[in-house]
Amino acid sequence: MDMSFTPEQIRFREEVRQWIEQAMPAPIRKKAQNGAHFEHEEQMEWHKTLYKKGWVAPHWPKEVGGTGWDATQRFIFNEELSRASAPPLSPFGLAMVGPLIIQFGTPEQKTRYLPKILAGEEVWCQGYSEPNSGSDLASLQLKAEKDGDNYVLNGQKTWTTHAQYADWIFVLCRTKFDGKQQEGITFLLCDVKNTPGITVKPFMTTGGTLAFSETWFENARVPQANRVGPENGGWTMAKALLGHERTTIAGVGEIRRYINLIKRIARDTKVGTGSLLEDPAFRARIAALEIRHRALMMANYRTLASAQLGRAPGPESSILKIVGSEIQQYCYELMMDAMGHNALGWFDSGEILPMHEQWVASQFNYLRATTIYGGSNEIQRNIIAKLILQLPGA
Ligand SMILES: Cc1cc2nc3c(=O)[nH]c(=O)nc-3n(C[C@H](O)[C@H](O)[C@H](O)COP(=O)(O)OP(=O)(O)OC[C@H]3O[C@@H](n4cnc5c(N)ncnc54)[C@H](O)[C@@H]3O)c2cc1C
Repeated sequence: MDMSFTPEQIRFREEVRQWIEQAMPAPIRKKAQNGAHFEHEEQMEWHKTLYKKGWVAPHWPKEVGGTGWDATQRFIFNEELSRASAPPLSPFGLAMVGPLIIQFGTPEQKTRYLPKILAGEEVWCQGYSEPNSGSDLASLQLKAEKDGDNYVLNGQKTWTTHAQYADWIFVLCRTKFDGKQQEGITFLLCDVKNTPGITVKPFMTTGGTLAFSETWFENARVPQANRVGPENGGWTMAKALLGHERTTIAGVGEIRRYINLIKRIARDTKVGTGSLLEDPAFRARIAALEIRHRALMMANYRTLASAQLGRAPGPESSILKIVGSEIQQYCYELMMDAMGHNALGWFDSGEILPMHEQWVASQFNYLRATTIYGGSNEIQRNIIAKLILQLPGA
């Protein structure tokens, strides 16, 4: 991928930068500059702002609402979003089920679901994990039995991020109980808000936020027309979607936000007669972090450029997931180090503390999960060993 910029690309960057500058609502900008956690409503407000401009899904094909930008324009766009510390958008519709419907959905499904995902009118969540089926996803037990034009669902999902806000959930369910586990799974789209028998019970993280839920299905009837791909063909859907998910989880934009904040904090932290940012040992840690981030960013864009040529993200997305999740955790370790005892605040401290002091410990705790969600890093290492390095299984 050629990363030297032409005059048109430089003009494009300027256009994007100016638009973000004037379009980002002031309260969101204030939070962005101060490293605070974005609430769901703020993510959706930013989603809708981007949608109105036509820029919410640059990674989608133009005919279904993408921008038609090339890989370099998307690179520039994402760099400018990171530079402005813009809120990350909810990935479940835009980055997961949307691309899956584009790839495998029927024409009716594309017409029904894609415009509402783009407009932010319908929020999605992901129902893959169950209490005893996380890493061993193929063992999942949510039962879906045919009855007339419907499937009747019974069972439980867990760790359903943002289910309490969601209008729709995409689930993997079991439609065949004998034979190979992977060959009995089906991918369904379920209307969370309007289907009797689906109950969402949110629970709290150690970061103090209500990030996810348990989702229960009790005789919930879901039309067969909501199936993506063939019955018992859900494992192919599951894997395609996970490829998209793991690429997103690299968190290139979030890491940029974190590094910007670390630098700002270090600049404001006095050490002797200077600032922490002038301290050679601290500078070396920042430099090492910048280098790791740069390498991740280039690897990520290679994957995106290849996706733009029509290739689905392959097992290399596991590398992005491991490296990105580890860097995200390291950022908050460095931030805690930079802040010392000022990192002991909590987000219910009102206006007494600066915003970044209120959120750093909560974010540090929450980010412990990055090496777990989207498939734990141990499992990603197994995937790399098997599918990329062609090593024999244990
Ligand atoms: C913050 C957060 C948000 C999440 N959001 C969602 C969501 O929105 N939707 C959803 O469906 N799921 C979600 N998940 C679930 C997530 O995908 C699972 O937690 C993850 O896949 C791991 O599964 P598990 O928790 O059952 O751990 P287990 O599978 O029980 O694993 C426990 C430990 O054993 C290791 N292990 C297991 N098997 C192997 C093996 N074969 N080789 C080596 N090590 C192994 C694992 O790596 C891990 O360290 C979320 C999880 C978290 C923490």
